[in-house]
Amino acid sequence: MRIGVLGGGQLGRMLALAGMPLGARFRFLEYRSPAPVDGLGEIVRARYDDPEALVRFRDGVDVVTYEFENVPDASARYLDEALPVHPPPAALEFARDRKHEKEGFGRLEIPAAPWRAVETREDLAAAVEAVGLPAVLKTRRLGYDGKGQVVLRASGELDAAWEAVDGRPSILEGFVDFRRELSIVGVRGRDGATAFYPLVENTHRKGVLVRTDAPAVDVPPEAQATAERYAGAIMAHLDYVGVMALELFQVGEELWANEVAPRVHNSGHWTQDGAVTSQFENHVRAVMGLPLGSTAAVGHSVMVNLLGALPPAAAVLREPLAHLHLYDKAPRPGRKIGHVNVSGPDRDAVLAAAARVEAACPDEAGPV
Ligand code: AMP
Repeated sequence: MRIGVLGGGQLGRMLALAGMPLGARFRFLEYRSPAPVDGLGEIVRARYDDPEALVRFRDGVDVVTYEFENVPDASARYLDEALPVHPPPAALEFARDRKHEKEGFGRLEIPAAPWRAVETREDLAAAVEAVGLPAVLKTRRLGYDGKGQVVLRASGELDAAWEAVDGRPSILEGFVDFRRELSIVGVRGRDGATAFYPLVENTHRKGVLVRTDAPAVDVPPEAQATAERYAGAIMAHLDYVGVMALELFQVGEELWANEVAPRVHNSGHWTQDGAVTSQFENHVRAVMGLPLGSTAAVGHSVMVNLLGALPPAAAVLREPLAHLHLYDKAPRPGRKIGHVNVSGPDRDAVLAAAARVEAACPDEAGPV
């Protein structure tokens, strides 16, 4: 089976590396050169909205998936007319517009921070009245890794915040005094079967994920079941096929939804070495219509993102529990260029090895 992937970054690279043993072949639509998927399949080197390239990309693939959510609507719908597109274009629309996403959480009765839509400067003042301060102003679209976001602490900051988002359609969200950030990665097959990885704990620096501890420890009772119910409700609502991540805030003992990623997710990278089946393999299985693999963790894992600069490979590889995953991307300050998974049966040994890996990272303090 030939799988067409919109996008050719590290997620596409890891999908191909996991899918090839299942007999899948890959074709990517990717305009950048070089790209992390170079050498892993055919590449149609063009923009995602290039009509002629979309024809070439579509011709001869059996199923289409994507590795990022900012695929133009028209492109996803064009492909959807002729081929199965997994997850469906509706999932892109849900996840890519924060207003739709929040409305979806409300409809599915999934708790989230209080919020208001903001179209104008006057709306912003009204939203601050309704939501209170501190709050976070986020552009509805094209926000990720903390981009397109500004924290508002005092009413004197409204003009500056509105300027910081360039007056774009946004939402204002109450600032959540969370205990920690968790996420759940789930997968849904073509037959509607679902499986969920254990909840993991994510550490961010300046809005960017730097580390995942898996499975999360000390999760409140019922939290795993609750998170599965929320993620499962979203997937069922969207008639989803593939891997989806739901980022959560733990507030006291409760879980509040933050955002959905309609694709394999950075907080699921640990599954490559720390779960029976990786999120990448499970995504490929799902889109190919194959049975899903076990999502059980095989021990404890820490995933350390490599941002901006690489540690010496030997410093990582001399750790017997560590696995190095490089994306073949040029180092640039703050750029995700690889990750290290440290996995093993003994949690203390995993934490100690992860600390040594972090210490070996030149970028540890983070220029992000
Ligand atoms: P997002 O792009 O919405 O996932 O936001 C990136 C990061 O900013 C999150 O992982 C949190 O660390 C932080 N953040 C986002 N929204 C809020 C909020 N309402 N309250 C507190 N922190 C937030």
